[in-house]
Amino acid sequence: MIRIPSTFKTDVMSKDNKPAVYCKSGDTVVFETLDCFDGAVSPDGHYDKEGCYLANPVTGPLYVEGAEPGDALEVEILSIKTRGWGAMGTGYGEFAFKNYNEKNRMCVFDYSDGFVKLGGHKIPVEPMIGVIGVAPAGEGIPTTTPDCHGSNMDCNRIIEGAKILFPVQVEGGLLAMGDMHALMGDGEVFSYGLETGGEAEVKVNVVKNTGLLQPTIYQGGKVMTVASALTYEDAIRLALEAMYELLKAHGWEKTEAGLLMSMKCNLAICQIVDPQVTVRAELGEEFFK
Ligand code: CA
Ligand code: ZN
Repeated sequence: MIRIPSTFKTDVMSKDNKPAVYCKSGDTVVFETLDCFDGAVSPDGHYDKEGCYLANPVTGPLYVEGAEPGDALEVEILSIKTRGWGAMGTGYGEFAFKNYNEKNRMCVFDYSDGFVKLGGHKIPVEPMIGVIGVAPAGEGIPTTTPDCHGSNMDCNRIIEGAKILFPVQVEGGLLAMGDMHALMGDGEVFSYGLETGGEAEVKVNVVKNTGLLQPTIYQGGKVMTVASALTYEDAIRLALEAMYELLKAHGWEKTEAGLLMSMKCNLAICQIVDPQVTVRAELGEEFFK
């Protein structure tokens, strides 16, 4: 089994990052990941603000032999194991909470029994991967910013059993991931997920010449095209264009593809708090067979 320790970390998705590991299409690889604070928060809630830490570090990158621009890199999430506790900042003063001037603080949660205890409720965890992506073709992009290479999409459908296809932009793809969340609702509305670290076991496959436009998730019987942009308008358009092109690539006649989308495609928000917003279009996978 190939394993990438979290000492191979970076805060930029870049074609210039030296591969941590090389593997073949079909290999299974374990990524050990740090939380988005790069370990600056301890289990007792102490937040070391003076230390030198990366923002939103990812582990990698993984070079997958044979992956070339124009291909898709398929990443199947076989398992996600998290460390049993997480940290969450508060989001006063920004986004939906910009009119609330409370003091922000760091909160920690022990969920080693599989439940978050909050307000008298026991909430089951649903571990997901916040940042996962390949290297962009142009200049490196910080791991805080999602785009068509994936990265900080903060999509809560990236859970165990999900399959994600990324448009490969550079030789080897250069897959990296981090920023696990034990729980996060659509939107990540109070600025943080329940931030945690752990390890993800993934199987990678190169799919030749897909012409895929955006990261595309297969999960829970749905196909989801995910897109990020500075505005909701652009993100929504990019997600819908990706869905439309995917349908046509699966043999749908162009107008029937549009009609089907109006009948059965749903839009959802992934996150609203990163340097670009992320949305997804969802359609049942039965329409792709
Ligand atoms: Ca994130
Ligand atoms: Zn996060």
